[in-house]
Amino acid sequence: MGEPDEATILHADLDAFYASVEQLLDPRLRGRPVVVGGGVVLAASYEARARGVRGGMPGWRARQLCPELVSVGGHFREYQRLGDEVMAILRDVTPLVERVSIDEAFLDVRGTRRLFGDPTQIARSIRQRVRSDVGLPISVGVATTKHLAKVASQVAKPDGLVVVPAGTERRFLAPLPVGLLWGVGPVTRQRLAGRGITTIGELVELDRGHLERLLGSAIGRSLHERAANVDRRRVVDGSRNCSMGAQSALGRRAATPEQLRTTLGHLADRVTGRMRRASLTGRTITTRVRFTDLRSVTRSVTLPEPIAETLTVTSVAVELAAAALRDHPEEREISLLGLSVSGLVGAAPVQLELELGLPGATRRPGSGVGVARRSVDRAVDAVRDRFGRDAVGLAGVQLRGDGGVPDAFRELAERNGRPPSDGS
Ligand SMILES: [Mg+2]
Repeated sequence: MGEPDEATILHADLDAFYASVEQLLDPRLRGRPVVVGGGVVLAASYEARARGVRGGMPGWRARQLCPELVSVGGHFREYQRLGDEVMAILRDVTPLVERVSIDEAFLDVRGTRRLFGDPTQIARSIRQRVRSDVGLPISVGVATTKHLAKVASQVAKPDGLVVVPAGTERRFLAPLPVGLLWGVGPVTRQRLAGRGITTIGELVELDRGHLERLLGSAIGRSLHERAANVDRRRVVDGSRNCSMGAQSALGRRAATPEQLRTTLGHLADRVTGRMRRASLTGRTITTRVRFTDLRSVTRSVTLPEPIAETLTVTSVAVELAAAALRDHPEEREISLLGLSVSGLVGAAPVQLELELGLPGATRRPGSGVGVARRSVDRAVDAVRDRFGRDAVGLAGVQLRGDGGVPDAFRELAERNGRPPSDGS
């Protein structure tokens, strides 16, 4: 494979998107530490990040770090509208726009030079237009591969542009921390640090066989490739970005936390089971709540990394449904709940140790619960492959004919199925 001779791939990523939108909508929030979400921080402004607050952190922890934190419920419809506006600006430049979440996309601008200038000029004008037409800060990375363009946009944040010209990739990557490579979570980072490897340059110098022995062959190989900027993925337009979902009509039910947990748990179980069978993971979780007058509201969130775990998807979906209900305090009954996961991508082997940064103390990286959950999922999948899908269910998920759920499953489900604390 020949090296690409020009950096034409852009990764455009809005900065602290939800929080920036809140600051755009309400000028009083500008310059202040703002988070979206109460029980769980769904997004944090840069002012909040400067105090150590991070997306996925429990709300109580965020307030502990930053007592003057302002937490807002979130204008999800506005997020969608403004995210769509930004995507429309990107599609003015090239039809080759691959939206990977509500606020982030890859573009390939090869072939648009005559119309719009070189990739750097295009990146500049995108940033200007998003700022002037929409009012939001966006960072852009430009490089020869998707992976590197994304690293570049992360380095560019906040509100910056980083271009990595063809031929300078390794020099650019060498001094950066290994944690910027996709899929390097805290476990891998620690393991590498134990061998004195903290930068990507040190990683790429390492013999590949040695790395494979250290991290396992699949992870070792893919990390070595990323560190050397080997990434053959092309930018594909949105038509391939599919989703998986399920919904459940409820007739007329009181919208209790118990009801949400039970139904969404059941739906998450079905959807993620299909995803895992197709070796897919997804980053965007959407929950739909329909009221008894048939009006419905949706809420969605895009996670830092793609997931396919039943319990994790359940917790996120419950949090979203609770947010939707908080916005409609007059509604006490619901007639339908829906759940979908989009932004689906193939499950990577490095999935095993991603730092999810999700709600709840049980999700601390390295706590082992993520791995345990995946073991639960794998176990359930295996049982169903043999005995059909109703043979086993997670406690709290309430599939038909439950009765023989092993204690280990039950305990996990209980620990993770707690209603999200809403201390805001
Ligand atoms: Mg973003």
